[in-house]
Amino acid sequence: MTVTGRHYLAIPGPSVVPDRVLNAMHRASPDIYSGELHEIVPGIYEDLKRLARTRHHVAIYIANGHGAWEAANTNMFSPGDQALALVTGRFGEGWALSVEALGVSVQRLNFGKQAPVDADQVAAALQSDTEGKIKVVLMSHVDTTTSVRNDVAAVRAAIDRAGHPALLAVDCIASLGCDVFEMDLWGVDVMVCASQKGMMTPPGLGFVWMTDKAKKAGARSRWRTPYWDWTLRTDPSQFYHLFGGTAPTHHLFGLRASLDMLVREEGVEAAWRRHQRLAGAVWAAFDAWGEGDGKRSGIGLNIADPLNRSHAVTTVKFSAPLATDLRTWVKANAGVTLGIGLGMAPDGDPAGDGFMRVAHMGHVNTHMTLGMLGAIEAGMAALGIPHGSGALERAAAALA
Ligand SMILES: *Cc1c(COP(=O)(O)O)cnc(C)c1O
Repeated sequence: MTVTGRHYLAIPGPSVVPDRVLNAMHRASPDIYSGELHEIVPGIYEDLKRLARTRHHVAIYIANGHGAWEAANTNMFSPGDQALALVTGRFGEGWALSVEALGVSVQRLNFGKQAPVDADQVAAALQSDTEGKIKVVLMSHVDTTTSVRNDVAAVRAAIDRAGHPALLAVDCIASLGCDVFEMDLWGVDVMVCASQKGMMTPPGLGFVWMTDKAKKAGARSRWRTPYWDWTLRTDPSQFYHLFGGTAPTHHLFGLRASLDMLVREEGVEAAWRRHQRLAGAVWAAFDAWGEGDGKRSGIGLNIADPLNRSHAVTTVKFSAPLATDLRTWVKANAGVTLGIGLGMAPDGDPAGDGFMRVAHMGHVNTHMTLGMLGAIEAGMAALGIPHGSGALERAAAALA
C-alpha cells in the first residue's frame, strides 16, 4: 500500500510545524546588526513572558531541551550545593543526571511511572534538610515519557509549608502552550522549555524564564561561563549580548510566527482549552478500546486519574509487542507516526514494545486527532488486535 497525502508526525516532539512558521523561516539571511531582526526581538521577549504568565525575565539559547536544562543548571548551582529532584519519568531523571554531572549531589524522590508527585513527601524531605543545603527543587510539569502531569502549585505550597528557601525549577518542555501553567501565580522561580513541542517551531531554541529572586540567587553561581550566563540574555535592548554570539536568525523569524499564532491570535487560554478537548477525545477512545475484547490486548491509559494526565501527550500500554506492531502498521499504511514507549519498558519487555505515546500537542486540531484515532482503529482491525468497540463514536462525542 502506498501512503499519499500529508504525513502526520504524532510524536511528542518535534511536533507539527505550521506552514506559517516554515514560510517565515524561508528567506535570505538577514542582517544581524540592524533591521527587521532587531525590530522583532523585543516583541518576542514580551510574548514569551505572556506565554509563561510571568512579568519577570526570559533568556533564549541556541539549544534543545537538554541544553535548556544545563543553561538553568549553570546559573542555579555552585560546587557543594544540593538539589531535590522529583522524578515521575525518564525526563525527571534526565534533568537530575545533568545536575549531578556538575558535581551537585541530588536527592531523588521517585514516584514511579504511573503516579504524580506527592507534595507531602516533598515537604517532609525539605523539613529534614535542617541546614538548608538544598538549593533547588527540580520537577517536570509534564513528564513526556509517562504522560503524568504534576501539580506545580502544590509543590510550591509544600516548599512554603516546610519554610524552606529552595528555588522551584520546573521543566515545561512538553507542556508550555498545552497545559495550564501560571509561572508567577504558582510561585515558580525558574522554568525551562524548548521550541519544538507546544511552541510549534523546529528544534533549536531553548528558553529559561527566571524571577528576580532566582536571578539574585544565581548571581553567586560559580559555574556560570560566558555563553550560559543568563544575566546578559534578558535585556532585549542589548541585542549583541542576547544570544552569546550570532543570533539564531531563521529560528527567530519562525518563533515570531508561532507566537503570533499562539499568543496573539488564538490566545494562550484558548490553546489550553483546545488541548484539553483533544486530550479528552484520545482518552475516550483508548478507554473504549480497552473494554471488552480490549482486555485481551492489555489496552489501557498509563495514568489512571484524568486530573493527573497531560493534555499534550498520552502514554498507552498494550500487551507486548502489540504497541510496536500497531505503530509500525500505522506508519507504513496510514500516514501517521506515533511515539515509541520511551523509558517505560518493564522487566520482560526490554524493547518497550508494550507502550506507545500519542501526541496531541501544538499545531493540532479536531480532524487530525480523529484521523489519527481512526488510523489506530484501522491498524487494530488489520492486525487482528482484539479491542473494545465504539471508540471513534466516543471520541467524536467528546469533541462535539
Ligand atoms: C522533550 C523533553 C525534554 C528533552 O528535550 P530535547 O529537546 O529532546 O533535549 C526534556 N523534558 C521534557 C519534559 C520533554 O518533553
